[in-house]
Amino acid sequence: MIHPIVTFGHASLRCESRVVPTVTDEIRRLAADLIDTMHEASGVGLAAPQIGREAAVCVIDIPPDAEKPVCRAFNAAVPMPLVLINPEILATEGSQRNNEGCLSFPEIYAVISRPNQVTVAFHALDASRQTLTVQGLLARAVMHEIDHLNGVLLVDRMSQVQKLAVAGKLRRLKKEAKQA
Ligand SMILES: [Zn+2]
Repeated sequence: MIHPIVTFGHASLRCESRVVPTVTDEIRRLAADLIDTMHEASGVGLAAPQIGREAAVCVIDIPPDAEKPVCRAFNAAVPMPLVLINPEILATEGSQRNNEGCLSFPEIYAVISRPNQVTVAFHALDASRQTLTVQGLLARAVMHEIDHLNGVLLVDRMSQVQKLAVAGKLRRLKKEAKQA
């Protein structure tokens, strides 16, 4: 089922997600809805707070040809779409600076620094605890979605200068969220 995606200014984006105690059919349905909604919006990642839900669940789907060859090879074994339940960053390495967007910030992009590699522990859909190490765009997406589960948004990762550059767009989004 496809859900409306809430945008900047909506209170649910600032909530810290709740740990999922058991991976139930309801959680599996939520993951499927997140995947459908992400695909419908042509996004590469989506987190539960973006559809107004509190569970610590996020999904990612990076097309292989979007990655640099070296990262594509490193990430080759990762199944897509990737569902992360209760994800937790265990380690990061290196750094990358690239353009980043967010479905909750339509038309807003900014160059953001992040680690180039991340190791994350999470529960999979079958409730098993797993660990993954990924690089490049996929690592960026994992960290961006985990930020969402902590109530941290793209705007929080932007410099003052970057924020000033999109101040008008941010104001408009906030105003729209208030009226919704
Ligand atoms: Zn986002």
